[in-house]
Amino acid sequence: MPSGMEALRRGKLTVRLLQEHHKENTLSRIPPVPKITKKVVRGKVIRLRLFDRPKESCGVFGVFDHEDAAKLTYFGLYALQHRGQESAGMVSSTGKSIFERKGMGLVADVFNEHALNGLRGHIAVGHVRYSTTGSSVAKNAQPFVASHAGRPLAIAHNGNLTNAKELRNKLEKKGSIFQTTMDSEIIVHLLTHNIKMGLEEALVKTLCKIEGAYSCVLMTKDRLIAFRDPNGFRPLCLGLLDEGYIVSSETCAFDLIGARYIRDIDPGEILIISEGGLKSIRPFPEQRKTFCIFEYIYFARPDSTIYGQNVYAVRKRLGKKLAREYPIEADFAMPFPDSGNYAAIGFCQESGMPLEMGVIRNHYVGRTFIEPTQSMRDFGVKVKLNPVKEILNQKRVVIVEDSIIRGTTSRLRIKALREAGAWEIHMVVSCPPHRYPCYYGIDFSTTGELIASQHSVEEIKNFIGLDSLCYLSLPGMLEAAGLGGENSFCLACFNGKYPIQPEQGFSKLHLES
Ligand code: SF4
Repeated sequence: MPSGMEALRRGKLTVRLLQEHHKENTLSRIPPVPKITKKVVRGKVIRLRLFDRPKESCGVFGVFDHEDAAKLTYFGLYALQHRGQESAGMVSSTGKSIFERKGMGLVADVFNEHALNGLRGHIAVGHVRYSTTGSSVAKNAQPFVASHAGRPLAIAHNGNLTNAKELRNKLEKKGSIFQTTMDSEIIVHLLTHNIKMGLEEALVKTLCKIEGAYSCVLMTKDRLIAFRDPNGFRPLCLGLLDEGYIVSSETCAFDLIGARYIRDIDPGEILIISEGGLKSIRPFPEQRKTFCIFEYIYFARPDSTIYGQNVYAVRKRLGKKLAREYPIEADFAMPFPDSGNYAAIGFCQESGMPLEMGVIRNHYVGRTFIEPTQSMRDFGVKVKLNPVKEILNQKRVVIVEDSIIRGTTSRLRIKALREAGAWEIHMVVSCPPHRYPCYYGIDFSTTGELIASQHSVEEIKNFIGLDSLCYLSLPGMLEAAGLGGENSFCLACFNGKYPIQPEQGFSKLHLES
């Protein structure tokens, strides 16, 4: 038994939902970006919550040939929980039958011991979801399961297809009936349309039709197949545990279950794992890679290795670069935990400025069912992060942040720091301003959600209530991120240059209308 698994079995793990409470802005010099938007779909009003932090896309995990496939997948999803908190699911196979469990909520909410015992077999695929195409409802939880001619398939998908509407319309005209509003279901329909030519060829044909970002794990009764889009937007890696193979969005899941990282699934690669071993198909001509640079800045866990580099180390380099680009005089630098933690370490190491934790995070914030009273000012901010007056009083402070999306939460936090006595507050951000939406699986799909799309740095500084605001330059970010610089990364949300153009009318809910 691997030591990581053993430790987890002995302990009881729980994850509590951290909920951000938002407060209305009353002092805005620029109108605040709304936190709720509404869309009418087929006569029904759908309320969409707009968050002030970017929301992760999804996490996928798969196990082939391990007696504890379901338990390993459970812990794998646990490690990937940061990539999606709306729903979780798992499908397992004995080689003859498949078993399924999906639900809304966190991994710990969806699975219990009884459910895991029911997920029998030596193969499993799992998914944690944050909805980036299709609304957040139970029917859209993944893995998506379908059966064709008695042969079941289950797919877990991370990313967004950018030609989903067009493909879905064509399939519907040919008689396909869709069960969900997820783009991932399109992959399964295309696959079953061509299944007569055999699974491998059908998959190649399918991937030649779909466009956009996809890092997927597909399970049949007796195979696990991992595949990644030719651009390689989202990460996907291969590991080994005992004699079994593991596929995961991030390597932090390998560490938890005691698996050994072998390699990344290459962009454009289809990796088939079966009783016969590994078989790799690379049907696409070599093309420029466009890894999502925001995985390094914000999404991925710092203890993961993404695109061959440790995320913690990259974030520290971003902070060091910030310190070189923006020498600032202040008493100390601090992050708002946990965003900006690692960039703040790099910033302080390079600048020689002391690092302090001027706000303390409450790690055990759950859902509150009692409304705070009027006298509990700034409850929404302080319930999660409480400023330490003794540290902040009469001090000049540099906040190291990893991104600013709407700016409204930053504004409330800065106000709380001023009330705690801070004299000067400067903010440095470890990436350039987000001015453009992401169409590849991150949930800021409209410019309306991004304060920097409509306002200058000076205006954002004033809105948040800062003494100064500096963003890392694009060349500085690329230098710190390493790899091949501009030729290796997607930078679309910063510079508007999209590696793949999305179809017209693309949005999170465009498959619902
Ligand atoms: Fe990542 Fe931004 Fe490109 Fe989206 S647009 S894939 S968030 S770099």
